[in-house]
Amino acid sequence: MRIGIPKEIFPGECRVATTPEVAEKIKKLGFEVVVESGAGDGASFSDDAFREAGVAVIENAAEVWAGSDIVLKVRAPSLAEVDLMRQGGCLVSFIWPAQNPELMDKLAATGGTVLAMDSVPRISRAQKLDALSSMANIAGYRAVIEAAYHFGRFFCGQVTAAGKVPPAKVFVIGAGVAGLAAIGAAGGLGAIVRATDTRPEVKDQVKSMGAEFVEVEYQEEGTGVGGYAKIMSEGYQKAQADMIARQAMDVDVIVTTALIPGKPAPKLITVGMVKSMKPGSVIVDMAAEQGGNCELTVPGEVVVRHGVTIIGYTDLPSRLARQSSTLYATNLLRLLEELCPQKDGNIVVDMDDEVIRGATVIKDGIITWPPPPPKIS
Ligand code: NAD
Repeated sequence: MRIGIPKEIFPGECRVATTPEVAEKIKKLGFEVVVESGAGDGASFSDDAFREAGVAVIENAAEVWAGSDIVLKVRAPSLAEVDLMRQGGCLVSFIWPAQNPELMDKLAATGGTVLAMDSVPRISRAQKLDALSSMANIAGYRAVIEAAYHFGRFFCGQVTAAGKVPPAKVFVIGAGVAGLAAIGAAGGLGAIVRATDTRPEVKDQVKSMGAEFVEVEYQEEGTGVGGYAKIMSEGYQKAQADMIARQAMDVDVIVTTALIPGKPAPKLITVGMVKSMKPGSVIVDMAAEQGGNCELTVPGEVVVRHGVTIIGYTDLPSRLARQSSTLYATNLLRLLEELCPQKDGNIVVDMDDEVIRGATVIKDGIITWPPPPPKIS
């Protein structure tokens, strides 16, 4: 089978779904690989680098789409891109089926099969395919780099001949994959790091990374369906708001990552809290795309409000495109290995395999999302 990688067309998207090194490994599974010319430019993978890896470089996107049995992409395709897809072909990409019903219908009409990287079950066996975690890890790191860039002081404390510099204080709200990466990056730069989360089980993870876990003074179980967060009671929210208000006055940087699957992001940082922060403080709102954790966030933009820089970038993984392309490409390779156990250049979409079943959102033109709930053994 032929695997094609088109250039991403979403404005500002710099990632690419494979790299020359990973393409060589895909070829070892028996596939032919082609890329659209310039597909890797934004991630510093040149056409020549792909050619050296034995990958054919094709000028025209339409040819890549129509000529490939399997298309690998990063962003969900546009409706115009779906028009280019071969009837009965296969697409592997981020899809976000719940948010994109029109796209799902159009993809189903191609009679093809679609595997969504956002729908890979987050179970131990599927960790190597978990692109959500790969991208969240990069986003958390980059959030801290963006904060450091916009913050007017060092993150680390220093004693210099020109005076003593205190370390910056960084507060991370939501210690999931992105939050833990942010804790690691901020600690690495020498900041004092604190973090909070509604899920009590993350406390030990936060502490093991050398950060302080800030508790909410209210007893409530914060873990919901599938181990994810849930909407908390009014009483908890009030106690949490008091705690965040105290932190906002004290810290220099807040990185917020708080998300509840399928719900708008909880609003945790009010206008009043922003006003209470020290001049020159920075907020990075990693929940910007889902409505933001801060009342003043503008998705996709950096704004200064009441002397505080509020970063609402929604493309943090793309801002580290070479790294994110490399990890994403490896997640796709691991999926292809699952789909092609015989290493004969053909895929078998085994709907009895829990991981493949979860990721497959359309099978031969039939919408198969959402998957049935996991069996309780
Ligand atoms: P996420 O991006 O959905 O949420 C980010 C964090 O925000 C979470 O830690 C959440 O608890 C927290 N949060 C939500 N509302 C909050 C609030 N009001 N105040 C403070 N914090 C709040 O989460 P994620 O990083 O994608 O992953 C979290 C879950 O997924 C965990 O259960 C984790 O163990 C699981 N997971 C499993 C695997 C695997 O087994 N393969 C991989 C990754 C993640």
